[in-house]
Amino acid sequence: MLSFDEALQKLLSGCQPVTETKAMPTIAAAGRVLAEAQYSTLSVPPLDNSAMDGYAVRSADVMAVGTTLPVSQRIPAGTVGAHLQPGTAARIFTGAPVPAGADAVIMQERCEHAGDSLVTINHVPKSGEHIRRAGEDVAPGAQILAAGARLRPQDTAFAASVGLATLPVLRRVRVAVFFTGDELRMPGEPLPPGAIYNSNRFALVALLENLGCEVRDLGLVPDNLDATRAALRAAAADNDLIITSGGVSVGEEDHIKPAVEAEGRLDMWKIGIKPGKPLAFGAVRVEGRDAAFIGLPGNPVSAFVTFLTLVRPFVLRLSGVDKVRPKSYLLRADYDWVRPDARREFLRALTNDAGGVELFPSQGSGVLSSCVQADGLVDNPPGQAVARGDLVRFIPFSELLN
Ligand code: AMP
Ligand code: MG
Repeated sequence: MLSFDEALQKLLSGCQPVTETKAMPTIAAAGRVLAEAQYSTLSVPPLDNSAMDGYAVRSADVMAVGTTLPVSQRIPAGTVGAHLQPGTAARIFTGAPVPAGADAVIMQERCEHAGDSLVTINHVPKSGEHIRRAGEDVAPGAQILAAGARLRPQDTAFAASVGLATLPVLRRVRVAVFFTGDELRMPGEPLPPGAIYNSNRFALVALLENLGCEVRDLGLVPDNLDATRAALRAAAADNDLIITSGGVSVGEEDHIKPAVEAEGRLDMWKIGIKPGKPLAFGAVRVEGRDAAFIGLPGNPVSAFVTFLTLVRPFVLRLSGVDKVRPKSYLLRADYDWVRPDARREFLRALTNDAGGVELFPSQGSGVLSSCVQADGLVDNPPGQAVARGDLVRFIPFSELLN
């Protein structure tokens, strides 16, 4: 039996990230993986500028409340004013460059008009007040984004703020999925006795699309060896990864193992996790090139949780992402867990308004409602009993579902 950490380590070390790069318009690059670190050639902001609508002054000219100064110029955003004459104020607006000679901005709420072109200042400023300094956000030459970052909206905005019109991104990972189980039907089809709907198809396709993959959904494959082998060959052509659900146990109706062995190579991993346990990892070889293979268990909760905890980091690393571990948080257990499993458990759990975490009452591996009702997973170490009030490690779904 492999521990979770050993299994993850093996998965990641067997992973060959995509390398093909293309230039993407920055406006369309969110969600993509950055291929190379990016640097700024500029200062942001480019000039000292006003953080307020108000008046730019020399602080030495405003030593007392009620000082009245002539207004010598007007500087809207986008224009550069003249050198500020000592003993005068410049009308200035947010974002406008602070004129040379001025060292403070008085917000307009602290000023009064005092007749034509005169302003009375009801505040004694400190030098530097309400001025955003040139380069305080970004200095020239600074690295703004690291290679292997999955670009978030704030990242593409940051790239735009230093004038980058395009970004080098890695190509999307191509993933083929198919599903085994003669009992499976699609929603919209009648459900004869003994049949169930293919819910894993909906989970897997959406999970992979959320990770930025191009998904080729090959649908349901009959529970026999030849059909499974043919599906593997079709899935391997032109894809980086094949993911299947079901058929990885060693029952007579489980054909994934012999089919992958016939078309490539396979390791069956018994992993000390619950739900989950069997995970098939290997490769399918078509026309001299390999597509990685991962066979997930068929039970919907097992498939979902195994995907989130093991497949997600693998897919991210395959996509060229550097940081693949989700953030987790220590929260107070508002439950007792008296009979822990010897395996590491990922328990479906809900946070409450009192700052604690509660378990969904049914933790069965077929109970998909547990995943729907929960906010995330409690990561419970092997054999670890929990008493109310203990701190437990909680991974929110928001960390795992993107
Ligand atoms: P298997 O791994 O094929 O032995 O399947 C284990 C359990 O998961 C069985 O109860 C299957 O009916 C169920 N199952 C397998 N595939 C799916 C699927 N795609 N959607 C929902 N349930 C599934
Ligand atoms: Mg099956």
